[in-house]
Amino acid sequence: MRRAGLFGRRGAGAPDAGTPRRASGAAAGDLAGDAHGAPSRAAHGPRFGGTADITSGKGPRGGPGSQGAGSIDVDGVSVTIDGTGILHDVSLQAHPGMLLALVGPNGAGKSTLLTVIAGDQAVDSGTVRVAGHPLASWSIKQLARERSVLLQQTSVAFPFTVTQVVEMGRAPWIGTPFEADDEAAVAEALDLTDLHSLTERHVPSLSGGERARAALARVLAQRTRILLLDEPTAALDIGHQEDVLRIARAQADLGDTVVVVLHDLGLAAAFADRVCLLENGRVVADGTPTEVFDAELLSAVYRHPLEVLTHPVNGTLLILPVRSARGPSSEENP
Ligand code: ADP
Ligand code: MG
Repeated sequence: MRRAGLFGRRGAGAPDAGTPRRASGAAAGDLAGDAHGAPSRAAHGPRFGGTADITSGKGPRGGPGSQGAGSIDVDGVSVTIDGTGILHDVSLQAHPGMLLALVGPNGAGKSTLLTVIAGDQAVDSGTVRVAGHPLASWSIKQLARERSVLLQQTSVAFPFTVTQVVEMGRAPWIGTPFEADDEAAVAEALDLTDLHSLTERHVPSLSGGERARAALARVLAQRTRILLLDEPTAALDIGHQEDVLRIARAQADLGDTVVVVLHDLGLAAAFADRVCLLENGRVVADGTPTEVFDAELLSAVYRHPLEVLTHPVNGTLLILPVRSARGPSSEENP
């Protein structure tokens, strides 16, 4: 595990990103040699995704360079808003194939860090590189073809239908050969998020969970190499939480770079390759879930006694608040 200030840099290790990896349609060409296979979803029988095949392609490289596409390199970033320091000397890296979870208590700076990576929040010092290039060298359009963002608060002011919202994810590709993939990308995203029965519903009429899935579908339809998801599971029941993380994991396994803010440490332990633990705007730990999820450290950061257990069957870490044993109530057992 790397604690604050010890974060080492590693090579981008990105595959050649100058060409789309999982091309669909004539415009994208034939990439039969792609090493990534489609993830199997049948084994777990998720409610998301009956027929969609997550093998369709991303667009061409959206940004200024071809090396390290999909890589994220945050180096010594500090952010001050209205005179208050929000992020302090934050460094982290993510690369294709990785699912990186950002965790930490409320107000730790997770959302701010995500918007910094997205290029939507200016930094006071430090650098952020996407695909090896400083964010400043990217145009808005180029960035929109490289990374998609699911914000913590998504509001749809106008009564767009679910389909219309998901179609908005295709906007960056207007006027490119990848416009030909619009219909397939939208259908795939709707399928993956189990929204086919709601396509004509107006978004304001949806439940919180349905709205969250529509927002995720828009991000998936954008078909970018980098997915930045801020608490995508917040409004979802436990089954849909699993499905969202399974989709995110599948995208990473196909070679995308996925950065996801999570409150549920158990989900992070189960699905993330790497975890970055933030506290008061600083990275206090960065490593694999096993490295970062140390009971003493978590208890200190969350200011609550927590215990880390190992699932007896699958070995996944379970992070729980320490609770005293509670017997049956006296009313039930007089
Ligand atoms: P998290 O997502 O970890 O809960 P945030 O990144 O949303 O944390 O916020 C980190 C801190 O920065 C909080 O104390 C929050 O109040 C503050 N903050 C975030 N955005 C602003 C802003 N626009 N103006 C002032 N303070 C902000
Ligand atoms: Mg937040």
